[in-house]
Amino acid sequence: MKILDLFKLDGHVALIVGGNRGLGLSMARALAEAGASIAIAARDEEVSGKAAGELAVEFNAESSAVYCDVTDEQSVRAAVQKTVERFGKIDILINSAGINIRGAIENLSVEEFNRVQQVNVTGSWVACREVVPVMKKNGYGRIINIGSMLSVTAIPERTPYATSKGAILQLTRSLAIELAAQGITVNALMPGPFATELNLPLLNDPEKYRAFVSKVPMGRWGDLHEIAGIALYLASPAASFTTGSCIPVDGGWIAI
Ligand code: NDP
Repeated sequence: MKILDLFKLDGHVALIVGGNRGLGLSMARALAEAGASIAIAARDEEVSGKAAGELAVEFNAESSAVYCDVTDEQSVRAAVQKTVERFGKIDILINSAGINIRGAIENLSVEEFNRVQQVNVTGSWVACREVVPVMKKNGYGRIINIGSMLSVTAIPERTPYATSKGAILQLTRSLAIELAAQGITVNALMPGPFATELNLPLLNDPEKYRAFVSKVPMGRWGDLHEIAGIALYLASPAASFTTGSCIPVDGGWIAI
């Protein structure tokens, strides 16, 4: 087997939750280019349909859009079922749905704290739970959860988000060892700052924008395509001995 062949995803099926824009779409593009069939799952069906259409046109990928609200477990179950009905299996799951509610702790409600955990943590957990039986049937799987540099470092006024992203690492490690003997790997990426809708409050505030850049040894925000290569690696047969790992993609932020 030649090394580059291990990065090919022809015949593989990927479900990308939160794949209709931002980092999820960037990872979807990489997997589609490598040959995978892609199901894009998110709430905004119009945006998802457009994203799936782009993958079909640009990469000749088989692609579809499925409605999914990760705060509703029936909706996640239905999205998994529809993906299996359409493509016959799921080899790759990427959990990229995420939200952030920022603020000083005394200004945040329990409802706001819980909403962040519900999307970022419970949503990823439910998607794993629904997909694992499908992967077990084939004795093969690649699960990629999305943490953050705030999984392991901290900044003020991020208590809901940092709590949720810390939990993603333990979800990843615990599930990785649970599934290690069954051909299913579970890994996490920890992105640094990327210019997506999630970060509009920072992007629209020059002072906050500069403060973020000053924390990145590379002195800049990430470009969306810079998450793609490592996502392709973790999604591919090449990553057969990598599980339970949590990999920064952060321009050096965590290394400081
Ligand atoms: P975006 O805001 O660009 O995209 C968020 C995605 O999540 C969209 O596809 C959105 O689709 C989906 N989503 C949100 N809520 C739900 C829900 N309830 N059910 C299903 N899908 C949902 O964010 P990013 O691409 O930046 O973020 C992707 C992941 O990366 C998140 O987990 C984020 O925390 C993480 N991350 C991002 C960083 C960054 O700098 N951008 C840094 C570190 C981590 P829709 O609204 O249609 O449902």
